[in-house]
Amino acid sequence: MHLDAFFTSLIVLATPTYSFASTIITILIANALFVGSYRLMFSTMLVVVSTVLIGAITLPDLHLLDEQLNTIIASSIFLLIYLSAFALAVYKLTRQLIKLNSKVKTLSLTDPLTHCYNRLYLEDSLNKEIQRSYRFKIPLTVIFADLDHFKKINDQEGHNAGDIVLKEFVQLVSTSIRNNVDWIARFGGEEFIITLPNTSAENGAKLANRIREKVSQHNFVLADKPIHVSCSFGVTEIDFNKDELNAEQLTSNADQALYKAKENGRNRVEIFTEKN
Ligand code: GH3
Ligand code: MG
Ligand code: MG
Repeated sequence: MHLDAFFTSLIVLATPTYSFASTIITILIANALFVGSYRLMFSTMLVVVSTVLIGAITLPDLHLLDEQLNTIIASSIFLLIYLSAFALAVYKLTRQLIKLNSKVKTLSLTDPLTHCYNRLYLEDSLNKEIQRSYRFKIPLTVIFADLDHFKKINDQEGHNAGDIVLKEFVQLVSTSIRNNVDWIARFGGEEFIITLPNTSAENGAKLANRIREKVSQHNFVLADKPIHVSCSFGVTEIDFNKDELNAEQLTSNADQALYKAKENGRNRVEIFTEKN
């Protein structure tokens, strides 16, 4: 911006036409403001004023564009090039900003370890999903998944091994659910919520069982040594004959079913019932 101001000042020095000089100075100051800083605007003005003053004192006879027509042609070409370059820069910056914005948004909703959705996304999106289901009377099933004896894996194989298991678990689930319809979010630690729109609890339990089998048969390879992991699941669906539930209440029902799965020996799937 300061270099810009310096060269602009040279052009101001080269022309005696005040309207042209004031136009380019206005553009320059507007640019500095557009970049978003008053400090930059003031320092830019300082560069312009000092360069023009120094130039006027040391080069008093520098009026290269004395003739009216020359001035108009020169200023038109200058404005054309200058504004085109400026528009291009703004276009590129805006595109960069849009990309960065979407990256920040994605990062803020993603779990950094497993790359599935995080708790923030879960709380917001599950409530929206529930509201849509009640409004259009479309079934909705939620699965609460919790890896079995995960603490033992950490204790015996190390925290890194635990991290690998979590990542591979999410991979296994992601390849088992419907693309762009179902989604998985990390509730916390080794606990995940799988949301299945337009799915009954019965079909949700079938899916949970398929994932359960996949996990229990999968070789989680940690430092060349395969280990076996199992997972328990609690399944629940919204009941249109009862009071409306929110995300917290639905999750709590799935958690109660999960508790039953743990109580009944782990590596199993249970569906929520009021008696749970
Ligand atoms: P249960 O079968 O009853 O679910 O037992 P559990 O050992 O899986 O459950 P517990 O709640 O006792 O232990 C969960 C463990 O998960 C404890 C914690 O250190 C570990 N954990 C939580 N977050 C992470 C993580 O990001 N990485 C790793 N490696 N471990 C984690
Ligand atoms: Mg747990
Ligand atoms: Mg666990």
